Amino acid sequence: YDDRDGVIWMDGELVNWRDAKVHILTHGLHYGSSVFEGERAYNGKIFKSREHSERLLKSGEYMDIPIPYSVDEIEAAKEEVLTASGLQNAYVRAVCWRGSGDDMGVASARNPVRMAVAAWEWGAYYGDAKFKGAKLDIAKWKRPSPETIPCFAKAAGLYMICTMSKHAAEAKGCSDAMMLDYRGYVAEATGANLFFVKDGEVHTPKPDCFLNGITRQTVVGMLQERGVTVIERHIMPEELEGFEQCWLTGTAAEVTPVGQIGDYTFEVGALARDIAESYEKLVRA
Ligand code: PMP
Repeated sequence: YDDRDGVIWMDGELVNWRDAKVHILTHGLHYGSSVFEGERAYNGKIFKSREHSERLLKSGEYMDIPIPYSVDEIEAAKEEVLTASGLQNAYVRAVCWRGSGDDMGVASARNPVRMAVAAWEWGAYYGDAKFKGAKLDIAKWKRPSPETIPCFAKAAGLYMICTMSKHAAEAKGCSDAMMLDYRGYVAEATGANLFFVKDGEVHTPKPDCFLNGITRQTVVGMLQERGVTVIERHIMPEELEGFEQCWLTGTAAEVTPVGQIGDYTFEVGALARDIAESYEKLVRA
């Protein structure tokens, strides 16, 4: 991703893609002090852009990373990148991190907090799983307790659990992993939330120790508009046996049906397909 044409917004200005570099003693690289957003632009407009900018600032607050920009300034930065790149349909990555400077220990209050925004084309996150249903492994790593780390932040440090889980899943021929939480309840995938269908009702894990995704909230709204009952609750992994359909939601994943999690199988059913198609229409509207 580093060797290509284009521009990236860095600390208030556009720089050439290949020159968008940081020093090796960047605090974020050593200690994980970084928060970020993943967004998608459709037909030139970022879906729920402001919500993403607000979440970025919230993540900074949670992780004690004081981001030196307002929501409006972040919105303008994203706009500038999209305009300069000429991309209509793109994935947009905003990232804020503690930089290099006077401190190189765990504490880094004197180092500048930096920010960058990049955009690039990114197709279907799970490839043809979007039609066939994704196959998921069950991760051995758990989502941590809210007493361990601010678990509602979209923070780089929290993603090590996801990267390790996804690598293990891919090594087994799966496209992602379902993670349980610290209590053993079903939580989420490594970059997406989970929904299940049983007897015409939708069950989804209560987001009390992981990201309540913007896509998740959108899809809950779509289901409620259809008059479908959505039950947010703690779900034990054994319950997957009784669920008929399953899908993932996320900015990158959009709505992707799931065909298998561990040994449990699901049909790519009518509701999963309907929600996936309606989400496509909504983001492009
Ligand atoms: N959980 C995790 C761990 C994620 O990385 C994401 C993607 N940001 C989500 C859930 C879904 O969030 P959203 O719908 O806001 O993209």
